[in-house]
Amino acid sequence: MNSDLQNPIEFLKGVGPQKGALLNKEIAVFTFSDLLHHYPFRHEDRTKFYTISEINQFNTFIQLKGSIVSKKVIGEGRKKRLTCMLQDNTGKIELVWFKGVDWVAKKIAIGKIYVVFGRPTLFGSTYNIAHPEIEPVNTKTAEGPALMPVYSLTEKLKNKFLDSKAITKLNLALLKNCYQYINDPLPVSVIKNYGLISKREALKYLHAPRSLVEIEKAKYRIKFEEFFYIQLKLIRSKKIRLVKNSGVALTNTSLLTTFYNEHLPFDLTGAQKRVTKEIYKDFKSGFQMNRLLQGDVGSGKTIVAFISILIAVSSGYQTALMAPTEILATQHFHGLDAFAQRIGIKIALLTGSTKKSERKKLAQELESGSLNLLVGTHALIEDTVVFKALGLAIVDEQHKFGVAQRAKLWKKNKNFYPHILVMTATPIPRTLAMSLYGDLEISTIDELPKGRKPIITMHKYDSHRLRVNGLIKQQVEEGRQIYIVYPLIEGSEKLDLKDLHDGYESMRRAFPEYHISIVHGKMKPADKEFEMQRFVKGETQIMVATTVIEVGVNVPNASFMVIENAERFGLAQLHQLRGRVGRGADQSYCVLMSSFKLSKDGKIRLETMVRSTDGFEIADVDLKLRGPGDVSGTQQSGLAGLKMADITQDGAILEQARAAAKELLEKDPHLADPEHNKLLNYLLQQKTGQLKWEQIS
Ligand code: ADP
Ligand code: MG
Repeated sequence: MNSDLQNPIEFLKGVGPQKGALLNKEIAVFTFSDLLHHYPFRHEDRTKFYTISEINQFNTFIQLKGSIVSKKVIGEGRKKRLTCMLQDNTGKIELVWFKGVDWVAKKIAIGKIYVVFGRPTLFGSTYNIAHPEIEPVNTKTAEGPALMPVYSLTEKLKNKFLDSKAITKLNLALLKNCYQYINDPLPVSVIKNYGLISKREALKYLHAPRSLVEIEKAKYRIKFEEFFYIQLKLIRSKKIRLVKNSGVALTNTSLLTTFYNEHLPFDLTGAQKRVTKEIYKDFKSGFQMNRLLQGDVGSGKTIVAFISILIAVSSGYQTALMAPTEILATQHFHGLDAFAQRIGIKIALLTGSTKKSERKKLAQELESGSLNLLVGTHALIEDTVVFKALGLAIVDEQHKFGVAQRAKLWKKNKNFYPHILVMTATPIPRTLAMSLYGDLEISTIDELPKGRKPIITMHKYDSHRLRVNGLIKQQVEEGRQIYIVYPLIEGSEKLDLKDLHDGYESMRRAFPEYHISIVHGKMKPADKEFEMQRFVKGETQIMVATTVIEVGVNVPNASFMVIENAERFGLAQLHQLRGRVGRGADQSYCVLMSSFKLSKDGKIRLETMVRSTDGFEIADVDLKLRGPGDVSGTQQSGLAGLKMADITQDGAILEQARAAAKELLEKDPHLADPEHNKLLNYLLQQKTGQLKWEQIS
């Protein structure tokens, strides 16, 4: 056999053209090397035998030993099945086959002792195992390694006898013949300093482990490596950006001083002061800032944004603040307008519903430079919006914007990039932030303004509605306002809107004496705004809404929120929604309504919300429930390329890999040292991900 690992897989003994084509198509294995890198996703412990009495619902795959005491073929045609009873000293369990019935039936003899391997499922009150592996004890049961690798394979492959056993065999052959040709891209220094095993050993331990310890070592090594490459790219591109994108220095703080001395409405929290300093340091540096400002809902990001704006304006530059919805943009505008007037800076609002004549006037003011701050929706990034000199662009609630939209902001000036501040209330778990935003600086507001009382959250079933209405009444009588929120899920909008209208009607019936607003995404912006304003001004006591109120809306007097069908919301969204209350000094409440029927995840979500108001804790649970794939931005980051590492579980390994990548690039920023040749070549070959190594060396 040729030992070149880049050989087409069909040339491997035992594969051939037909199976080779199937491996190409089904699991993207094209070369010898690809097969070695098709890692098993778990190992079955064939050293342990369970007794039948030990079976419970927590078992996944288990191995049993016992004799067959009965055998029956029942049914006809497609309903035909084989059932056998397996017995050991502790009990009996049924084994069932729906496919290959005659063939299996012939193989099994009553009275003989077998080793059976499979997954028990509860059927009524008894367990059975469907389609177990079964082999008589007297043949060589212990064929193959005791810890059997299990690969992710398709039905088509298994039908052609390419099952986990067969793949193991092929890999064993590869390991035997090509072992010394397996390259290790990791520098020797990294392997040594971080106690890693070599690539060859790792592959051997995965495909043919002799112990659990070997598997653990191999996994650690592979996960480390996967994170290491991503981190190298992120750190490298950040360095390049800093060198390339020199920004404008913003150093004048005269307006800020006036604001601090005369208009600051409250004392800043320690965290607000700290992040303000971090931002100012970037402004002064002469390099372009790219900073993510994360802070839980209500932590006071807006004032930090305004302070940053004041520095930019004092320094002679224009600024932009972009929000994801018209409601939020409008609210920012009204909120900042009062400050702006006092300070004497010129501010304007631009959204989809801004009139043409108004736009024309805006365009002139932007181009002449007389307008200092433009607040708006993504209407801001349209090409027709041209600034004289945009010094700072702020994006609020970034998770609603795509990377591409943000990139457009970068290009608003001809000669330099504006400083960018991205604000989010969706706390990003540290591991995810490191992977996704390794090239952004991160500032965190981890402290709420003084005097805030944690929101009290309750979970109530739909049958408790009358009691909940009682609470609503009590709150309104104390002068508070109420949100009632309905989910709006893509694909079922019609039904959801009907729910919303039904809910509105039943509120009117329950509280004929109150004024009630209704807001949803299908309304015209002007109508939405009108209803919002009625609520903001306190003319209505109750607001029935879909999640359009999710981001940013600020009505401090609203202290009670009911979330209908709460089980249908994701955790991040529930947390965002709940953040609309608890913004004033009053005790606030959030009631999560659900039906009795709850999925396991649904239950965990509601329990988490009741237990915690800590956005980071909630984000962590969310990440564990959903996995990173669902978190926005993961697709672009190269995380999709992680085969074994899992950022929800492997944070500690990620930290190690990041440290290693940092050290390496500090020593050898261009990977020019011959010792790092293999690594450089490996990175150059990789075509995945948007960050290509070529463009940065
Ligand atoms: P978010 O971070 O969710 O955008 P906001 O900036 O809307 O939060 O602030 C929430 C509320 O808290 C606002 O009413 C704001 O005026 C108030 N606030 C912000 N900072 C402070 C502070 N340091 N002390 C008291 N109130 C504050
Ligand atoms: Mg906000």
